[in-house]
Formats: sequence, structure tokens, C-alpha cells
Amino acid sequence: MEKKNLDWQSLGFGYVQTDLRYVANYRNGAWDQGGLTSQADITMNECACVLQYAQTCFEGMKAYTTEDGKIVCFRPDLNAARMADSCRRLEMPVFPEDRFVEAVCETVRANAAWVPPYGSGATLYIRPYMFGIDPVIGVKPASEYQFRVFVTPVGPYFKGGIRPLTVRISDLDRAAPRGTGHVKAGLNYAMSLYNITDAHRQGYDENVYVDSATRTFIEETGGANIVFIKDGTLVTPHSDTILPSITRRSLLYVAKEYLGMNVEERPVALSEIGDFTECGLCGTAAVISPVGAIDDHGTVHTYAGMGPTIQKLYDTLTGIQLGRLPAPEGWIKVIE
Ligand SMILES: *Cc1c(COP(=O)(O)O)cnc(C)c1O
Repeated sequence: MEKKNLDWQSLGFGYVQTDLRYVANYRNGAWDQGGLTSQADITMNECACVLQYAQTCFEGMKAYTTEDGKIVCFRPDLNAARMADSCRRLEMPVFPEDRFVEAVCETVRANAAWVPPYGSGATLYIRPYMFGIDPVIGVKPASEYQFRVFVTPVGPYFKGGIRPLTVRISDLDRAAPRGTGHVKAGLNYAMSLYNITDAHRQGYDENVYVDSATRTFIEETGGANIVFIKDGTLVTPHSDTILPSITRRSLLYVAKEYLGMNVEERPVALSEIGDFTECGLCGTAAVISPVGAIDDHGTVHTYAGMGPTIQKLYDTLTGIQLGRLPAPEGWIKVIE
């Protein structure tokens, strides 16, 4: 198959319209058969529930070209399960998990020419999402929904590629106790836009949120979980209000089983962040991006950036994803 003629190396993290996307519709209490379409635009009523009350959730995952030329994706069953959780929390119908994985594979296969080649540093970002589409004016869930999957080739998430990030401790909150911080709802991002724009204006790459109940524990950033390193131990915050990152869960396993490190998933106090030597942000888009500094209201804690441990974690995880290292059972789904 002939690849698209793109400058893969210089791709940023942006939307590029690809050839085909998957659409399924939920009406009268059931999902239709679904299928691929070339139509990238969506027409809906002015009063669609998603437009009025933001009833929408999404997933983010990637397809990779492996060293031996296969197209694969990484743990899609976990994205399917997480989207089901998001749907239940938002009163949306679950798109069956096996159909989710099938739809993802079908969309990637149909856009194989857009999957960046091995060694280019780029990947194919996959965006499954769902929204309430019929008119709703009184506050209640929609009764009709659309599930979609599109793909777009991407480079690094943070501008300038892999470089140490400077982040700040945020004064605004991301997630309330017993709220929606643990699901991938669009509303969690809408309310973060003011703060991320302000952070960029002030020269920071991201906001680090603390727990909104006590403001004494580290949670995560706007779009990535956070990990810390101290004396060969990987420490990551445990909290009911952070998004359960598949990258973070995979890194914990990799640290323990591949690198023989100790791992701790526990509350991480704001007062202890100066004790760590390395820090990273992790997510599908960020992979593991090194943090060089956390600014806590003028007290700046510095870290090794792409230090030896973050580098090892990065190399091992991407090694598994790109087929250079053996993967744990079930982690790699071969698409073609
Ligand atoms: C999607 C997301 C992440 C990363 O999750 P992955 O499964 O690793 O991609 C982290 N934090 C937030 C708030 C997210 O929305």
C-alpha cells in the first residue's frame, strides 16, 4: 500500500483530515450496524444535547507501525472499558466493547496509508467519541447518540518535541470529589481551557492540579497523569478524581516487571514534590514527557528532565509499542 506523501518527521499534534471514519447511530434503544464514511462533517439539530449540555465523552489511543512493518494498536480493550465507564457516568448508552475494538481496527485499516512509517517518530492518533445528538431543551439525557472514530497522523504532543517541560501548581481546580474527574468527559476539558491558556500566557507548558478538597495532594495535569522518581522507585498519585491513564498503568507494570523498580501508587503530598529527582507526564499523546521544573507559587522544584529513569521507561514502553521488545500477553493488537 502506497503511503500518503506527508513530511512525517515534522508533524505536530494537530488534526489532519484522513480518508474514512466510522459512524454508528443509537436510535430507539439500539445501535445500528455502523460503518465507514468519507463524510467528515456532522449535521445536527441546533438543540442537540451535546451542543446545549455537553453530553459527550471520548477516548484517545494510537496505532503504530512496528519494526517488522505491522500496524498495531496498544491495549484497545482498556480504552473500550474506560469509554463504557464514561458513558455510564454520563447516562449515555455503552457502545459494546468488542464492537469498539472492531470499529477502531476497521478505521485504522481503512486509513492505513496515513499510518506513519516505522522510525518516523510520528504515530496515528485514534479518536473514538460519542455524543447525544437529538434535541433536548429540558435538562435530561439525549435519546439518540452517535459513536464515531476518526484518525489523524500526529507528531509530539508538546510543542518543540521531547524537551523538559515547565509546569505550575494550579490555583484553579480540575475535578471535584465525587465528580467526573475519573471519566473522559469533554466537560473536563472545556473547563480547563481558560487555565491552560493562562498557563501558556505565563510561560508554562501545563497546569498541575491538586486535590480540590484539601489542596495538599498532587493529582494530575489537564491531559496527562504524573509520575515521580526517587531512588529507583516510581511514585504516582492515587486518587479517585484522576483519570485512570492506560499509559500510567502500563508504566507501573513496565517499571516493576521489565526494569525491576519499586512502584508506589499512593497519595503524593504537595509538600514532598521537592524530594523527587525525576518527574514525567504520561498519556497516550504525551507518552512520557519529562518535566524539568514545577513552579509552586514561586518555589521552583527542578528535576533531571529526560533523566536516566524516565529515559528507560520511555525506551521500554515505546519498545513494546513498536515491536522492538516482547509485549506482555494481550497488550498489542495487530490490525494488519
Ligand atoms: C486521556 C487522559 C490521560 C491519559 O490517559 P491515557 O490512557 O494514558 O492516554 C490523562 N489524564 C487525563 C485528564 C486524560 O483525559
